[in-house]
Amino acid sequence: VDTLDVLAGRLPDGAVSTDAGLLRDRAIDSWALALLRRCRGDELPVPAAVIFPARTEEVATVLAWAGEAHVAVIPRGGGSGVCGGAAMPAGAAGGAGWVVLDLSRMNQITAVDPVSQVVTAGAGVRGDQLEDALAAHGLTVGHYPQSIAASTVGGWIAASSAGQASAGFGAIEDVLLGLVAVLPQGGILRCRPVPRSAAGPDLRRLLVGSEGTLAVVTEATLACRARPAGWDWLAYGFGSFPALAQGLRDAGRAETGAAVIRGYDEADAQLSFAALGHTSGCVALLGFPAGPPGLAARKQAASAALERAGSTGPLDASYGEHWWQHRNDAVATYASIMGPERAFGPGVIVDTFEVAGLWSDVPRLYTGIREALAAHAQAVLCHLSHVYPSGSSLYFTFLVSGADDRDAEPRYLAAWAGAARSCAAAGGTLTHHHGVGRLKAPFLAAELGPEGLDVLKKIKMALDPGQIMNPGVLLP
Ligand SMILES: Cc1cc2nc3c(=O)[nH]c(=O)nc-3n(C[C@H](O)[C@H](O)[C@H](O)COP(=O)(O)OP(=O)(O)OC[C@H]3O[C@@H](n4cnc5c(N)ncnc54)[C@H](O)[C@@H]3O)c2cc1C
Repeated sequence: VDTLDVLAGRLPDGAVSTDAGLLRDRAIDSWALALLRRCRGDELPVPAAVIFPARTEEVATVLAWAGEAHVAVIPRGGGSGVCGGAAMPAGAAGGAGWVVLDLSRMNQITAVDPVSQVVTAGAGVRGDQLEDALAAHGLTVGHYPQSIAASTVGGWIAASSAGQASAGFGAIEDVLLGLVAVLPQGGILRCRPVPRSAAGPDLRRLLVGSEGTLAVVTEATLACRARPAGWDWLAYGFGSFPALAQGLRDAGRAETGAAVIRGYDEADAQLSFAALGHTSGCVALLGFPAGPPGLAARKQAASAALERAGSTGPLDASYGEHWWQHRNDAVATYASIMGPERAFGPGVIVDTFEVAGLWSDVPRLYTGIREALAAHAQAVLCHLSHVYPSGSSLYFTFLVSGADDRDAEPRYLAAWAGAARSCAAAGGTLTHHHGVGRLKAPFLAAELGPEGLDVLKKIKMALDPGQIMNPGVLLP
């Protein structure tokens, strides 16, 4: 009996699909290189099947079967990951021995507890569905990645996601209270939802950023807050990137309740605010949830911090409104450039590199990574989008242009190698919120060192001795 027939016999009808179009669709995620390879017509390996569990116990059935049959499993949420974490490995011969575990049918919002203000949701619930459901209760998780309508609760946990209002609501680890996950040998791990626990190392955190290599998250309980009635904005201009960084650092430390804190270098500001006629200078943007008291005084404190840091002066509040209205446009823009439409023409590849470092390292990270990317890229933009008292993320967007889609690939890979080296040399981490995937796995050792890598490998081997969970992702 075919091993897939054995699995199909253990699951409800329709849970195992070998439809050719589906296999092709689920073979890659949103990694720019995979999209480029598909556009230029490469024969990419496809999985043997896509499996759609609807319950935690069905996921356990799948993993137990995969262990018996020595089949590798790629968990998949929305497929919006940009590092190949949910992509078939390029070298997988024909894809035999690989299946994709698509969690999109685990899309139930199980419970909203208005007393505790928490929501329990299936791993496959998309961000927009989650927020729509919470709006009816006047609540929000406040986790707003740009990809909110394309990504899932499970994917946020597995890829260690951060939303655009992280300064106010925290990143995924800050709102994750409890979870249910299936371990590779079929056991079910239940971390009860509590606001904090000192009962040993935090097992919830072990799965944050695990990218489907240790377990399959099937359900999570997330903390909510009162849903903001609206947003209020402050925008300031800066003549240089160092002054902008100092302004954001000091405005963040002023504890003004800004939930969105962003700063654009000149090139990024020109692109992001072109519709407003912005032609020169860097831009700082702060967004305040409307509702909590003392907004005027808090905005004044933020303005004072930005002015002390050397701002060239306030900009119109329309900068904030424009950003809010268009905050998720990049999803469609990216798809139009890297998808079949090839909006910028063949040979062009656009990607992003989101690092993080201490404030004392931010200037070196900015100049070093920009130079490393610019050695191979035609355009490099940068913004600071997640600001902490001790440091910040730096989000580089870069565009590599080759003679054609084949010529672009080595240029793209060279840009990544140089930028990753530069990040490590400047003391940064090579990912703030996109994760490692297949793309950055070769660079992980430079960041974790041999001991760090060894610890991760030992955890992996202890939980997944058969190495069925997403081999080649995260760990080189
Ligand atoms: C245009 C664009 C903008 C983006 N903006 C942001 C942003 O603002 N912030 C941000 O954080 N990210 C952003 N991303 C990246 C991406 O949306 C996030 O990484 C997101 O968390 C991925 O969720 P997903 O459900 O799509 O996961 P997938 O892409 O399907 O998977 C991501 C990884 O998690 C694993 N995985 C998925 N679900 C599970 C599960 N239930 N259990 C175990 N492992 C699982 C997969 O195997 C894979 O390794 C953006 C992406 C794009 C294309």
